[in-house]
Formats: sequence, structure tokens, C-alpha cells
Amino acid sequence: MIKIKKIYIALLALSLNAGAQNYQPPLDIPLLLSGNFGELRSNHFHAGLDFKTQGVEGKPVYAVDSGYVSRITVGPWGYGNGLYITHPDGTMTVYGHLKEFVPELAKYVEEQQYKQERFSVDLELSPEQFPVSRGQLVAFSGNTGSSGGPHLHFEVRKDGIMLDPMPFFREEIKDTRKPRIKSVLVCPIPGKGVVNGRSGKLALTPVTSQNGQQVLTGKITAWGEIGLAIRGNDYMDGTENVYGIRNIVLVAEKDTIFQSDLGEYPLADSRSINSFVDYGVLKKNRAFYIKTYTDPGNDLPFFHAKNSGCVTIDEEKTYHLRYTLSDYFGNTTTLSVWIEGKRSDIPAEDTEGKEYFHWNSENKFGAKGVRLSIPRSGLYNSFYFSYDAERDTSALASVHHLHTNEIPLALPARLSIHLQHDTLENKRQYGIVSLQNGYRRWLGGSYRLGWIDTDIWELGTFTIATDTVPPRIIPLNQSVWAGNRMIRIQLSDNLSGVAEFRGEIDGQFALFKMNKSQVISYRFDSSRLTKGKHHLKLEVTDGCGNISSFEYDFTN
Ligand SMILES: [Zn+2]
Repeated sequence: MIKIKKIYIALLALSLNAGAQNYQPPLDIPLLLSGNFGELRSNHFHAGLDFKTQGVEGKPVYAVDSGYVSRITVGPWGYGNGLYITHPDGTMTVYGHLKEFVPELAKYVEEQQYKQERFSVDLELSPEQFPVSRGQLVAFSGNTGSSGGPHLHFEVRKDGIMLDPMPFFREEIKDTRKPRIKSVLVCPIPGKGVVNGRSGKLALTPVTSQNGQQVLTGKITAWGEIGLAIRGNDYMDGTENVYGIRNIVLVAEKDTIFQSDLGEYPLADSRSINSFVDYGVLKKNRAFYIKTYTDPGNDLPFFHAKNSGCVTIDEEKTYHLRYTLSDYFGNTTTLSVWIEGKRSDIPAEDTEGKEYFHWNSENKFGAKGVRLSIPRSGLYNSFYFSYDAERDTSALASVHHLHTNEIPLALPARLSIHLQHDTLENKRQYGIVSLQNGYRRWLGGSYRLGWIDTDIWELGTFTIATDTVPPRIIPLNQSVWAGNRMIRIQLSDNLSGVAEFRGEIDGQFALFKMNKSQVISYRFDSSRLTKGKHHLKLEVTDGCGNISSFEYDFTN
């Protein structure tokens, strides 16, 4: 069943992307990229192209084709100010991190924010409301939301599938530079193979020969089953940026064993990047290696692997493997990996005191004071789960080591931890935290008869903490507020995070906007305020329901 679905999606996407019409560029400056489609990011593939905006905000942004504004999102994170245009063929284009919308759209958004009495909104619009023609000005580029600098994030979607926008701009974008390989990782399959006589992974860094060809030096021996992983970058003309690699092919002894073309993927499968890359190495070394051998629970439709992309070394001879990496424009790099077959003992996997978690089953674990339940389809691959605890009867809860964070979860797992001392009257103030390098990350949860339950997206070390401290409200430069007709306040919270804020002027909702640094601002709005004295009240709530408030009198 899964196989049939995969093929169907791949064919569908192929037909969508093939023969892409040219779009009108969304910017009227030369199109240079700071990010391409499919770049490897934390828990997701980069879903579009990042167009450079010459280091500044406020560049006009145009509809790439006719259609209508079908959705607008506003919030402190994600795409910040995001605009979605649906085109007649059902394709949708997305414009993210915008500074502002054109005035007629901005007016509509603010009306909706006052109607819903909140800053963060996700608005769906009907085709009659804001039809647009090809090349129409719709917004101005910015740096809002989860953006590390001014740029325009641009996507093309169809039927829940994210498409590489590059084919729509192939006339505007110049790329004659080929990908470069940073490193190859040789990975013995646990209990089934060894590399250079050991069970550990071996990293190899290519050198560049005089003719520019990348080559691996040094001898690799192996025995049994091994997989390979690769790390590299692509480059383009006219920029110093690095990009993700679109195509990877691995040939072993003239047999194509792995092939991937990151030209589209279903939005719902974004998180499967954690199975596409070597997640353990990512967590340990912060390096993204693409695995060219595959996990059985990975349903991403853009790659094909033969025999899971693994190589079986069972003869004392030289094996030749060859990587070919290429970009959308066909610039290509190759690298040969020579492996010497050398008969060796293969140590059994260490399974002492561990539980086998099968990728295609529901997996449950219980020990004193802790329960873990991973739903079916929650794992990409099977593994031996280890558990350990630091018990301290005077603590709120034991510290539970539920394996390590090096195993990715495909679905959230249910974690329950027992409270050893249940003394707080307000049970909302309890929450599960994950512990990593001395840092506590609040996951929260709900109280149930002396236990806290929460969903986790990562295994690792967990215990219970409390947050009884309300958020902090820090006025910024209060002396200039009246002169600037603008109020600016920094919000922060010690542990559970700022969950909500609400400003009221004379008892009526007032729109405070929040940026990614959790600074909220209110601009004196003469269209909504009468002339004269006014009273502002701000309430800020953290993830545990602890509330702080702030009051301010001003004259309009
Ligand atoms: Zn982006």
C-alpha cells in the first residue's frame, strides 16, 4: 500500500513541476538567493527560495501571477507577515517575512485583528475579496517572524506538495557552479558490519586534486553491511552563500543503489528530514549528513533506494562506489569511494539491559515513576532502547534518562512522570522539562493524580519542574513614548514562556504587535482614540497561567 502511494505522489508532483510556466519575478531587483529549496534545517526542509533584498527591508513585492489573496498570517514567529496567493490552476505562491502589506490589505488585517482581539491571526480570504493581477504590488519585503536578516521567502505549493520554485525563474537565475562535497561518512550497520575493523562511523574528507576533481585518500576496509552518508554544499554565481544539494546518486559496482531528487515533497512529511539525515550525528556534531541508505519508516517520496541503499561487503576485493551530486541547472560533481573487502569479526550489537523497539509497532516502556508510549508509525527505524534514572527522594521527581536524543521520533510520544512531592495548590504550575547540557527546556504538560503527562518530540533526559514566577514586563525608554506616540515593552519569562498578552485602553482591546524578540509595541491610533486622557492596562500570562500586569496613563 505504502509503495503504491509513493509512486502516485511522485508521478503527480512530476507532472505538476514539469513544463513550469515562467513567473513574473516577485522583486524588481536581480534575483539572487540566500537559500534554496530543500536546504536541510532543524526538523524541516527549507520549503522555498530565499531571495536576497540587498540587505534592506521595504523592497516592493509583486504577485508572480494572477489569482487572489487566499490567506494572510501574522505572528511573531514563523513567516511573520505571510501572504498566500492562489492562482487559477490551483497553485499557491507564498511570500514570507514581509515588513508590511499594501495599505488596502493592511487595513483589512488590522480590522480582523481588532475583531478577533489578538495580534496573531491566520485569515482565509475568498476569491472576490482581493483578486490580483500578474505583477501587482502586494507587499514590502522585511525581516518579520523567524528570519535572520532581511529577505523574501518565496514558496510554490500545489495540493499539499511543496515544489522547488527554481524552474519558474530559470531565465532570471544564473548558476554555473557545481556542488562541493565536504565529507563522507561510512556507517557500519550495528551488529551487521564493521569499518576499519570497528563498529563506529568513519568520516572521510576529500581533497581537491590539481584538475579540481575531489578525491578521497587513505584506505578504507570493511566487512558486512555498511551504509554511506554525505555532507556537501551547492553554490551559485554572484553570491557567497551556500545552498542545499538537489540531486544525489550513489552507484555501487555499476548498480544505482540510491537516487534522490529534492524537487518536491509533501508538506505533511517535512519532519521526515530527521530520517533523511543522520540524526545522531546531527545531534552530536551539529552537522547535516544526508544518509544514502534508508530507514524502513521513512515515506519521503523523492528518493529511491535499492536494498535500502546498503552495500554488503562479503568478498575480499575492492568495491567501487561513486557519488554524483548535481544542482537544478545540471552542474555536477562526482566522488569515488574505494572500499577494500577484508574479512573481520563483526561484534554483536550491545543489547544488555535494553528493550527492542520495533519501528512498525507501538512501543511502551515503564519503570518506577515513568511511563513512555511511542505510537505506531512513531519511529523511522528499530533500535535498542536504554533507560537509566537518577533517584533522589527529596526531589520533585527523579531524573529519567529515556535513551538519548539521537533517535528521531516521527510522531510525538506520550511521557508521564510521577511527582514525588505534590505540594503546589495550582497544579498548572507543574511541567515536564527536558535537560540538556545543563539547560532546562520547558515542555509543560497536564496534571493527573500525582503524575504529569506531556507529548515529547525527542527522547532524552526529563524531570519535573515548577514555574510559579509571573512573566517580566520591562518598559523600553518610557520617557519617549508620548513624543513618539508609541509604547514599547519587552516581555520575558523565566521558564514556561510568554503565552498570551492583552492590552486594553479604557477597557477596550488595543492592538499590541509582537516581534521575534518578544518586544511588543502599540502605536497611538487616533482613528480609534478620542482626544484627551487615556488609561492603558497590559496583562501578560505565562505557560503556567501566572499573570503580570502593567498600567500607564497617557494623553492623545
Ligand atoms: Zn526561507
